[in-house]
Amino acid sequence: MPTSATRKWVSNLADSYGFMKFKRSSNPYRAVKERSGDFKELQTPLVASERVEQAARCMNCGVPFCLSGMFYGGSRAVSGCPNNNLIPEWNDLLFRGEFKFAFERLVKTNYLPEMTGRVCPAPCEKACVNNLNSDGVSIHDNERFIIDKAFEEGWVRDTGLPAKRSGRRVAVVGSGPAGLSAAWRLNQLGHNVVVFEKSDDFGGLLMYGIPNMKLEKEVIERRIKVMREVGIEFVANCEIGVDKTIKDLKKDFDRVLLTNGAGVPRDIHAEGRSLAGIEFAVPFLTEITKLVKKSKSKKLAKSLEGKKVVVIGGGDTGNDCIGTAVRLGASSVRQYEIAPKPPVEPTTVWPEYPNNLMLGYGQLEAIEAYGDADFTEYGKTVTEFVGSDGALTHVKIACVGPDFKVISGTEETVEADLVLIAAGFVGVEKELLESCSVQNYTNAHHGEKFNTDNEFIFIAGDARRGPSLVIWAIREGRLAAEEIDYALNIK
Ligand SMILES: Cc1cc2nc3c(=O)[nH]c(=O)nc-3n(C[C@H](O)[C@H](O)[C@H](O)COP(=O)(O)OP(=O)(O)OC[C@H]3O[C@@H](n4cnc5c(N)ncnc54)[C@H](O)[C@@H]3O)c2cc1C
Ligand code: SF4
Repeated sequence: MPTSATRKWVSNLADSYGFMKFKRSSNPYRAVKERSGDFKELQTPLVASERVEQAARCMNCGVPFCLSGMFYGGSRAVSGCPNNNLIPEWNDLLFRGEFKFAFERLVKTNYLPEMTGRVCPAPCEKACVNNLNSDGVSIHDNERFIIDKAFEEGWVRDTGLPAKRSGRRVAVVGSGPAGLSAAWRLNQLGHNVVVFEKSDDFGGLLMYGIPNMKLEKEVIERRIKVMREVGIEFVANCEIGVDKTIKDLKKDFDRVLLTNGAGVPRDIHAEGRSLAGIEFAVPFLTEITKLVKKSKSKKLAKSLEGKKVVVIGGGDTGNDCIGTAVRLGASSVRQYEIAPKPPVEPTTVWPEYPNNLMLGYGQLEAIEAYGDADFTEYGKTVTEFVGSDGALTHVKIACVGPDFKVISGTEETVEADLVLIAAGFVGVEKELLESCSVQNYTNAHHGEKFNTDNEFIFIAGDARRGPSLVIWAIREGRLAAEEIDYALNIK
């Protein structure tokens, strides 16, 4: 059986006119009413024959913007896949029904495609040339199909095995997508890897952050199982800096990679902040995921019945809080976002990621549940939390100007029993860096070296680049592993 490295390409086109024969079709979402009654997956995958048709829509065009991963306009936004996944190649192989070859091309760059095939916002699809006069290829769902098929067929394990062991040991601190991606690559390269995780389970924000309906937790457990099978060790409930120090690691390992995330949440510094009933999003979502993991039916008691919920923040995390509050039976949900309302029609042009208003799954569910299409308000912030007997009862909200400063005279008071703060993250916890005397490291604006001013320590993922996306974390983990391999080989 040839491998994809030796395989001769039949042609480097999928079906040249596939995009004219077949309409784009994504994995359909379950009906809002049905899905908001449980924490099961939102979407149902298409069958193999439909997936092959979808792959036929890829033209393998002259300049494949989908995989370019280019920054544009001086912003942090990227056009195309940030990980430069070899999209036209695996679309072509998928179209031909060569699922194993498609898998082998996919995992050349992406070691966790089952995660991105479920939660990636897919900038690749927006950059697809088909968008110029129709709809982009369903790359995200194609990716998921290929990797799910590979797990089903048992192809994954062998691609993680090293040719030979180097005898070198690397400690990875944190088991989010950056840590997992790095551990996979380091192991492939022959190094012995131990992943230390402070939480009781592995996956970082994949496990405790992103809710079960977006990413079923069995998908992460399946990956950890195969990682153990190829020789990677995992240690849970071990906080580096507390349960073990960097000094301890130095005795047992040749290098340490910090992939400890950017977990410090942005707080709302308003009067009344210490009242009961005000929570950060991630601990709230974590608690619910722990309950979902224990529940066979993936349905939970309506613990928010009769409660008025206010979500602060209009991003992914805020949307996940809304979807969760709806499932827990909240009597109402309101959302406030400090940024202005995005335009209905994009003001960006292809291949940029469009900047127009897009409703998340949680927002659609709240509109259906409460009948208020305008429950998300933009250009507004909290000015005060109001309570009685130490518990929250109301929130004062005001409009902000273009400088994000409160406009006086615009304040209104809304009822609230629970406020969920989903206002973003300010960055990495500094204590660990200080404990290993790291003062400087090359951040995302200074290239992709992943080293620090302590030659023993490397850093990657959200810890290095700030709050980002799963695919950026995967990229960082992969490239950091290669930098560590280089450092180990020259010493
Ligand atoms: C609610 C929510 C929803 C999101 N949804 C999406 C989405 O739909 N799509 C998307 O692409 N991105 C999404 N993101 C962003 C994405 O999850 C992150 O960008 C990504 O997980 C970052 O990966 P990471 O490995 O760098 O860090 P993390 O995933 O944060 O993992 C860091 C790990 O390090 C551990 N750790 C920290 N300190 C220590 C220590 N001292 N010792 C041992 N372990 C330690 C932590 O417990 C954690 O497990 C979401 C984020 C949130 C919060
Ligand atoms: S990881 Fe995201 S951007 Fe890259 S190919 Fe997959 S869906 Fe597209």
